[in-house]
Amino acid sequence: MSTMFKILQLRINSGCGKRLLGTLAAKEAGHYDVIIGGGGLVGTSLLVSLAKNETLCNKKILMLEGASEYKPQSRSKFSNRVSAINKQSVQLLKSVNAWDFIESIRYKPVMEMQVWDAISGESINFNHPNFSDSVACIVENDLMLEGMYRQLNDLLNVRIMNEAKIDYCLLPKDGAEKSEVTLKSGEKFTCDLLVGADGFNSTIRKAMDVNNYTVMYKQMGVVATLELDTSEYSGNTIAWQKFLSTGPVALLPLTDNLSSLVWTTTYDHARELLKMDPSEFVNALNEAFSKDYRKSSVVNNVMKFVDTVSPFKSNQMLLMPPKVLNVQDGSRAQFPLGFGHASSYACKGAVVIGDAAHRVHPMAGQGVNLGYGDVLKLTEVLSEATYNGSNLNDIQYLLKYEQERLKANLPIMLGVHALQRIYCNDFTPLVLARSLGVKFTNSVPPLKRFFMERAMA
Ligand SMILES: Cc1cc2nc3c(=O)[nH]c(=O)nc-3n(C[C@H](O)[C@H](O)[C@H](O)COP(=O)(O)OP(=O)(O)OC[C@H]3O[C@@H](n4cnc5c(N)ncnc54)[C@H](O)[C@@H]3O)c2cc1C
Repeated sequence: MSTMFKILQLRINSGCGKRLLGTLAAKEAGHYDVIIGGGGLVGTSLLVSLAKNETLCNKKILMLEGASEYKPQSRSKFSNRVSAINKQSVQLLKSVNAWDFIESIRYKPVMEMQVWDAISGESINFNHPNFSDSVACIVENDLMLEGMYRQLNDLLNVRIMNEAKIDYCLLPKDGAEKSEVTLKSGEKFTCDLLVGADGFNSTIRKAMDVNNYTVMYKQMGVVATLELDTSEYSGNTIAWQKFLSTGPVALLPLTDNLSSLVWTTTYDHARELLKMDPSEFVNALNEAFSKDYRKSSVVNNVMKFVDTVSPFKSNQMLLMPPKVLNVQDGSRAQFPLGFGHASSYACKGAVVIGDAAHRVHPMAGQGVNLGYGDVLKLTEVLSEATYNGSNLNDIQYLLKYEQERLKANLPIMLGVHALQRIYCNDFTPLVLARSLGVKFTNSVPPLKRFFMERAMA
């Protein structure tokens, strides 16, 4: 059988009570209130969030995922896919009860972040005053998924189909009465609202016929799990990111002596990094972090001069990150990086969320955070529509979702895209301008706080 069905639970409720029917004895077989296309972090979080919402828990929801059935990963090793998540994302995971599970297994609060420019040496660091709170939490993507999947046993009217690749969709704008999804296998489903959570190549976004502005950065993100000598940084609570002209190299803490790597670099260099034997790879990494790339005397002299005359003084001292001792076997992998933004997130009968709507460079750790923000807003708007007796595909509510999320996502998307352009460059005037910008931001606490709060909200 090419398509594997998994009916986790199909219950028809009286209110939100549970009356387990166990079969698809629904009003119309094949029709759902909501179909979510794509069961990555963002699609799965929407499934749990809708199903746990008091106003929406009577709705029948189907999630279609092209990959095979999710299986929890072994915990003997750390996964190489991790995310730096902000307070709002932790809040979402708490609201669907997934955070208790993550907390019981592992996650790492980051108390400080140092970001610096390899060419000018100018640095900025982010932390709460007196280290009173974390600036982000590092969580393995698998653990977030497992935490959410564990909630499904208690959910009502939720169905997940794996190996269910969406082939094409018809929407009310194409003349269809309801949104209609056809799988590669030929099976068809209809729904009131189709949600595209199917990643940056979204089939659902294409069916919505919206423009999608894309840029391929011609960069790969090389990830790995690293063992560090943290003798000078007890607790390993600092995240490090150094901007090289080929892209940033970052260490995200996982435990007292393990960190996760995201090294953005050219295609050719990424290929080389993956081929190197472990000791060569570790040497290349230590060199990238420790090598002095300051070669422009113009930049050096201007920055020194600014230091002597500027009324804004910061006590910023450039710290050296811990030395990398080893790379864990089999943990190296690479992912293509790009920018994408849909011109619209909603049309009658369909919306897009997560990477299907916006894809951003991982340098600022914002991708899944923006996606979780979409999930919170869409849940709120659909709940409001239902409470007011409107249909889930009422365009008035869907446009409200779109407007609110455009307002939140666009400044971050554009800011990160601009940073990518400004930093992956060693043109002297640009290096000078960005270094002066960093110096100024670092020495004016309200400005620094503004950036910090936007990124960590
Ligand atoms: C190296 C790297 C590091 C990152 N670090 C961070 C970080 O620290 N913090 C952060 O916030 N973000 C980070 N991100 C970004 C983050 O990983 C993504 O934004 C997030 O995973 C997107 O989730 P998604 O569910 O929207 O999309 P995806 O993860 O792409 O999921 C889409 C799902 O849809 C399924 N699918 C696709 N097409 C179909 C179809 N036709 N039919 C059915 N199913 C389909 C796929 O199988 C997949 O499961 C990072 C990204 C990279 C590459």
